[in-house]
Amino acid sequence: MSLAQSLLSLLTAGSMLLSAPLKTAAPQHDADGLLFLCNREFNVSAYYVPPDLRQAEVPGQVRRMREEAAAGLEEMFAACKEEAGITLTSVSGYRAYSSQENIYNRKLRSVKGNVEKAQEYVAPPGSSEHQLGLTMDIGQKSKSSLNTVFGKTQGAIWARENCWRFGFILRYDEGWEDITGYSYEPWHFRYVGKENAKAIHDANIPLETWLIDHRLQILTDLADTP
Ligand SMILES: [Zn+2]
Repeated sequence: MSLAQSLLSLLTAGSMLLSAPLKTAAPQHDADGLLFLCNREFNVSAYYVPPDLRQAEVPGQVRRMREEAAAGLEEMFAACKEEAGITLTSVSGYRAYSSQENIYNRKLRSVKGNVEKAQEYVAPPGSSEHQLGLTMDIGQKSKSSLNTVFGKTQGAIWARENCWRFGFILRYDEGWEDITGYSYEPWHFRYVGKENAKAIHDANIPLETWLIDHRLQILTDLADTP
């Protein structure tokens, strides 16, 4: 049995929990890769800094992202303005490990050291996608942001329907909490590249689940190759 075939049979064993096949499906060898998985289970190193950060030229704050993601974001905000007449704003892009650590520790103190409670609100350092430089929390000009009310704004509705055209996915949708480990966040968009974003949008499943299917397809193709 080839390596591809044995991995394939491992992945297709139906009774396994999601996290077990993810151990082989997640592309964790490459933190600079567009599909690197960062969540409560798979963390990014405290020393990781994205290679090509720059300011995205969009209205808003905390606008740093990786080059390719920043370009996608600029394109997306311009299209939203042109097609829907809505001004989207950046709220929070790249966050260094140390700033996530500060936010987390502040939250931890405010809930008197209750780790479970703190983690309901803030991702522990190393488990936030914002450290990858591929993520942007998006708002709509003069609307409240970073709460679920944002999901009902025209800007949020446009962004969720169209983000894939610019390489982004809505990362934490309603009903995906058990898989992603995060509550519904209608503002949090992750860059994965245009081709991946289209496939993930069409599949309408969380990145975690899609990575398993995607890797399974690659392995099937490999196993079929004589
Ligand atoms: Zn976010």
